[in-house]
Amino acid sequence: MSRLADNSDPRRSLPSVDAVLNGAQELVEQWGHTQVSQLVRAELDELRAAVGRGEGVDSTVDQLVQSLAAKLADAGQSTFRQLINLSGTVIHTNLGRAVLPQRAIDAVVSVAQAPSNLEFDLATGSRGERDTHVESLICELTGAEAATVVNNNAAAVLLVLSTLAAKGEVPVSRGELVEIGGSFRIPEVMERSGCKLIEIGATNRTHLSDYDGAINDRTSLIMKVHTSNFKVEGFTKSVGEVELAELARERQLPFVIDLGSGNLVDFAALGLPDEPTVAQSIDNGADVVTFSGDKLLGGPQCGIIAGRKDLISQIRKNPLKRALRLDKMTLAALAEVLKLYRSPERLREELPTLRFLTREVSDIESQATRVQEVLTSILPSHYRVESTACQSQIGSGALPIESIKSFGLAIRASTDAHLRQLVIAMRNLPRPVIGRLNDGVLTLDLRCLDCEDVFVQQLVELAALLE
Ligand SMILES: *Cc1c(COP(=O)(O)O)cnc(C)c1O
Repeated sequence: MSRLADNSDPRRSLPSVDAVLNGAQELVEQWGHTQVSQLVRAELDELRAAVGRGEGVDSTVDQLVQSLAAKLADAGQSTFRQLINLSGTVIHTNLGRAVLPQRAIDAVVSVAQAPSNLEFDLATGSRGERDTHVESLICELTGAEAATVVNNNAAAVLLVLSTLAAKGEVPVSRGELVEIGGSFRIPEVMERSGCKLIEIGATNRTHLSDYDGAINDRTSLIMKVHTSNFKVEGFTKSVGEVELAELARERQLPFVIDLGSGNLVDFAALGLPDEPTVAQSIDNGADVVTFSGDKLLGGPQCGIIAGRKDLISQIRKNPLKRALRLDKMTLAALAEVLKLYRSPERLREELPTLRFLTREVSDIESQATRVQEVLTSILPSHYRVESTACQSQIGSGALPIESIKSFGLAIRASTDAHLRQLVIAMRNLPRPVIGRLNDGVLTLDLRCLDCEDVFVQQLVELAALLE
């Protein structure tokens, strides 16, 4: 082949892997040889393919190194971003549910940093049990005899049923066969746990006699599910915990309640819609209750199982427990959150979830006035910003009908396209802002805005993002 022919093939003019690596020494130092050389090869392969398709390509070493630097920095970024939740839903599953209190965050860092006595009894030098870090706290706060913890409440329900009801029948009221966010269906979880769901009553009315009639020698337990994410209103009847506990005792069956949210304080005293506490359910005669750690409790994602000592001990021995057990960081955070509940009068300050839920409307309103002024001065004239009363949802299936009075900003635009553009610009801010778009209005509910400075300071970037 002649030299002329060689030079006419543009693929020949691409630099070699070694040449690019030589020019990328700084990147190799920062990101390591493996990552950089893999990317160089991939990049050159792509360029060669582009040339093969007859496309013109930039192929100097300098240009390549520049593009590598950008790609490496991009790949090195976390996929997680801190957001500002102005959606009006306080406990938002898609936005990570509860924000942890500082002492829980410190506890997470501490156990992550060094070996710990996770399952080690320092007094005797023998093997310990990881549940001990939270069990007595849970018992103290709920009145239960014993407790264990798993990854989430769905896992808690699965483990309880798989231990106490495998191959047996479990009567559940039709009105309680809930579906939560499309991801947790009681009937499916029951099936996976190996028990047979017996649906009783009608969707709106279930009587004690329905339970009584469904019990036979294959029945393993009686289960009640807290219908936290929907409410059948009007002509309804459900059987109370005390009555069901009595029936269960007569028939010598365990009485299990899936409480969903799991509240540990007197909500009415905090000015919130009433929600029964875990302690009340235990007091009413529940043998085992399950509830979430990251809903109303305001802690890390986990599922808490509390109740009779003999039953908890059986549950703990189920091999599934090993598969569902909690990580040390979650345990450490949970212990700190539970300790806060020892001083209920301080919860409003110290626990972010309850701080958000109990914020005074007048406080949110004055914040709305401040923020409205800034936003109005920044947004182009085809946007109109008004401060407005609005309603926050508690979220995550807790108290679905109840909403709490709040305050926020209602933003309207001269066209739908402008409003959509603003929604996108808000998402592209350094700390993305998530509002609620409804009927041509973007509402920013300020109930959860605990970083007003960050929010206001980054607003200047909105103008550029809207261009
Ligand atoms: C939320 C909820 C669950 C699932 O809890 P996770 O902690 O999200 O797994 C189960 N049962 C009820 C009644 C719930 O409200």
